[in-house]
Amino acid sequence: MKIAIVGAGPSGSYVAYLFAQADHEVVLFEEHPQVGTPVQCTGIVTSKIDAILPLKDVVKEAKVNTITKARIYAPSKNAVDFELKEKNYILNRGYFDQLIAKKAQAAGAELRLGTRVTSSHQGMVSFKTQTGVMTERYDVVIGADGPNSIIAKEVLAKHARKRSPWGGLQATVACDNGNVVEFYPYWGTYSWVVPEGKCRARIGLVGNKDTKKQFDEFVKWRMGATPKFLTREAGIIPYYAPHLSSKKGMTFLLGDAAGQVKATTGGGIIPGLEAAEALFEAVTEGKDYACLWKKRVGRNLLMHNLMRSLLDVCKDKDYEYLVKIIKRKDVKAIIEHSDREYPVQYLYRLLAKEPRLMLFGSGLLLRSIMQNKKLF
Ligand SMILES: Cc1cc2nc3c(=O)[nH]c(=O)nc-3n(C[C@H](O)[C@H](O)[C@H](O)COP(=O)(O)OP(=O)(O)OC[C@H]3O[C@@H](n4cnc5c(N)ncnc54)[C@H](O)[C@@H]3O)c2cc1C
Repeated sequence: MKIAIVGAGPSGSYVAYLFAQADHEVVLFEEHPQVGTPVQCTGIVTSKIDAILPLKDVVKEAKVNTITKARIYAPSKNAVDFELKEKNYILNRGYFDQLIAKKAQAAGAELRLGTRVTSSHQGMVSFKTQTGVMTERYDVVIGADGPNSIIAKEVLAKHARKRSPWGGLQATVACDNGNVVEFYPYWGTYSWVVPEGKCRARIGLVGNKDTKKQFDEFVKWRMGATPKFLTREAGIIPYYAPHLSSKKGMTFLLGDAAGQVKATTGGGIIPGLEAAEALFEAVTEGKDYACLWKKRVGRNLLMHNLMRSLLDVCKDKDYEYLVKIIKRKDVKAIIEHSDREYPVQYLYRLLAKEPRLMLFGSGLLLRSIMQNKKLF
């Protein structure tokens, strides 16, 4: 089959690799002159990424730090610490993307850099070249072109804009925080400090209004003063919208373009890679793509949506209460031995261990419904 893949991010390059190594004719379009730039990501993933076997060597090479501790803060600075059974890796995200694209090329995919796809319609893909716009025909078109996906316009038509993405801002600063992931669920939509190593950290905030102002305030508050930014980046984060389609004819959406993102943390690297495997299986074995990827990652993404809609209506006293309950030894142990990638696996155990969480969650759910929060 002749396959066009739009976007050489991790999802696009990985699916390009899968098709190319199965001897399909793959063209991978990337609008930037280089893969992996600009970086718009913290690059934190759980060690569940090791289950994506063909990328084991890539992860090993692009990893800049490993973290085994996380800390969640309440507004009073009361915090709970976790030892993470599932280690977290911090990736050099630009390099990570480049390595996957190289793997796709080595398997036979043609990478067209600096080539922006402008539209697709029933297999006809138009893209800009130095001499003008060209159109080519493909058997399969995959939109792995991120949150502002052009291909989503073909698949979703007028619904393409209905995913109300958040804005994320991040900077690298000189900071030694003891190699802990710090998570602040009450600053903006959420915010974080993620250590790159002993003396550098990535500090960021996601929000849906006044994001720049909130980011500046958060950084100043956390660092004691506005520090020198070693790097700065900004990006858009969509979230999972289960009612939206991910396929039209032989045109498919993948990764951020399909909203395969965790609404609690904005993490999209692992869900996108897992969905890439589902897409490869669906196309090569004539199976239903939506069924496959929703079975593999959709149930967990839905749970992340539910948790997000509860977190969004939390008030300061709710965060304090949550941190207090999570500090309980038995509750903490469940979280420490779970993978945040897959909340379906641990939420039930948590609720069974601490019934007060059920009552607390129900209260938040009621509040969320009354405030008409729409994450489903
Ligand atoms: C501030 C911030 C921090 C984040 N931190 C994390 C994190 O720590 N962990 C995590 O798992 N996720 C994180 N994410 C989310 C993560 O970056 C995305 O989920 C991930 O990049 C999605 O990969 P993708 O391949 O689907 O899309 P992308 O990485 O967005 O790749 C899309 C590619 O398509 C190209 N493209 C777009 N349009 C066209 C076109 N028309 N023609 C040709 N090429 C095109 C783009 O140039 C890009 O290379 C973060 C996001 C932000 C904004």
